[in-house]
Amino acid sequence: MKWWPKRPDRDRAAVEQVRGSRLPDGWPSWAIPAGTPVRIIQDSSWAGPWASVFTGTISNMAAPEPPASTAARPDELAYWVDFDQPQQDADGDGPYRKAQIWDRYIEVLQVPIHGTGWRHGLVAKIEFGCDYCADDQNRWHGHVTQIGSDETRQMILLRCPRCRALYENAPQGEDETRRLTEDEARTLYPNAV
Ligand SMILES: [Zn+2]
Repeated sequence: MKWWPKRPDRDRAAVEQVRGSRLPDGWPSWAIPAGTPVRIIQDSSWAGPWASVFTGTISNMAAPEPPASTAARPDELAYWVDFDQPQQDADGDGPYRKAQIWDRYIEVLQVPIHGTGWRHGLVAKIEFGCDYCADDQNRWHGHVTQIGSDETRQMILLRCPRCRALYENAPQGEDETRRLTEDEARTLYPNAV
């Protein structure tokens, strides 16, 4: 668990008043970090729960928590998201400045360059360069060429032999793959690229 500094927050006090309980502070290490830019999407089966697709930022007002609903998936989290623009929900209620959003409606727009703990739910959102490097077996078992390593962060730099896309991984593979641009790779692995 990662603990975020608590600061006085009028929104937080208002939400706690309405729900009649404290909001959580313990940030799961594998959850999307506060401050991450995100896009809120609609359900694949209906035009909701929000009236449109829009952008925002993961809020540090309170930690994410499992949704209080049996419809939630196992491990699903609901995050407080600050909206870039006030938004209406699918019933026309609002506009709202922030709300608690289920994981399934959140797309991460930008991964912090020194972010850690990017796991299952998010790995699926990597834009792979081609089918070869998109195959976990190829990335995790040495079929994508290792061209550099960072001892301090315990990460390795990989380049796909087919499409030339760059990735970094924990040496033991799984859960940590992240696509890098040429510029990011040059910054993180100055001797390799
Ligand atoms: Zn590739």
